[in-house]
Order: sequence, then C-alpha cells, then structure tokens
Amino acid sequence: MEEEYTFPFFQGDGFNCPFCGVFAHQDWYDVSLENANMNKENDFSNDLSLSYCDKCRNYSIWIKDKIVFPQPSEIPLPLKDMPEDVVQIYTEARDIFHSSPRSAAALLRYAIHMLMYNLGEKQENINDVILDLRNKGLDVKIQKALDSVKVTGDEAINPGQIDPKDDEDMAQVLFNLLNLIVDSLITQPKRVDEILDSLPDKKGSKKKDDEFLFRAKIRE
Ligand SMILES: [Zn+2]
Repeated sequence: MEEEYTFPFFQGDGFNCPFCGVFAHQDWYDVSLENANMNKENDFSNDLSLSYCDKCRNYSIWIKDKIVFPQPSEIPLPLKDMPEDVVQIYTEARDIFHSSPRSAAALLRYAIHMLMYNLGEKQENINDVILDLRNKGLDVKIQKALDSVKVTGDEAINPGQIDPKDDEDMAQVLFNLLNLIVDSLITQPKRVDEILDSLPDKKGSKKKDDEFLFRAKIRE
C-alpha cells in the first residue's frame, strides 16, 4: 500500500496532485489579468500561475513558486471503500495534519472507533467490537497495532481526546492504520465476493459453501 509521494513543485512536469492525490502529468498556465474598471489592455501576471492535472482536470493556484491552493498533503487520500461519515473525519484530520498533528491524531482515534462500531455487530464496548471484528477477519497484527497507538488497550485515549504526547509520526501511523482496516475488512472481502460471483458454474447453496471455504483459506 506504501507508495512514493512526489510533493507538488513549481513548473513540475509531474507530481502527486493536491486534488486527486494521484501522480499525474501537469500542464502549466500563465494567468491573464483583465482590469474590471478600466478599459486597459490585458496584462499577464508574473507572480500568478496555474497547474492543471491531467488526471482529475483541476487547476491548482500558485503564487511565485509556492502552491497556495489547495494545500498539498503527503497523507494518502481515504480509500474508496471508506464509509462516508468516516471519510469526513479523515479528511478533516488530513487538512489540519501539519498545523496540529495532535488534533489530527485525536480525530483519527475517533474515526477508527466510528469505523469499528460501524463494522461490528456487538456494540457494548470497544473490546467486544474488536472480538467481533476478529471473527470477521481482523488481523491480530492490526489489533496489536491498535493497542500500541492507544486506540484500544490499557493505555487507550478516549476517542476525540488530546494526548499531549502525540506527534506527526503518531498521526501518520493512525492515517495508515485507518486505511488498513478499511482494506482488510471492506475492500478485501468485497474483492473475494467479486471473484466468486465471476465463477461460471458456482450457483446456489454450493456457492455459499465454497465462499465460506475460500474466505477461511484467504484469512489463514
Ligand atoms: Zn488531480
């Protein structure tokens, strides 16, 4: 899942787009200025330029050699299968990551709780939810990682609460972990279903049995 990230740079031929996050070719434009009040000839700004992403077809705004909109982030975008309410919090954390990594970490712990309660069936407390998710295929390594970043376990921080010890590294791990849970509990099972649905002669109850075996096999 780890990919190299090329930060947007002035007049760059290609970089990770601040809109879509994808590494894409960029076209560059000078900006023509038209004075709204006076009937003067059009002029070009020396300071203002735009980069245009080949992939998502959005324009980013630059002043001199600095990008001013949107604010680029090396934090990966939320995975496509992440539920919408969790995406909103993830995106908020992504927007404030550089100015306040501690706030981002607090939001992300909250988002991870929200995601796990969304996915689990037993809702009494987070430990029950985790147990339930283990049965649904949550990797024991992810469970251990959640303990070590204080989402769960003896040292857990209440979701949404600030931990003064948090820093950028901690927030980055939490972003990755959130995407990893989505991948493991939503995207992967969906892929398995897609593969099973594409089998030509597996229909009816036999298909269900095969599905069960196939899932068990993948999670070994
Ligand atoms: Zn783009």
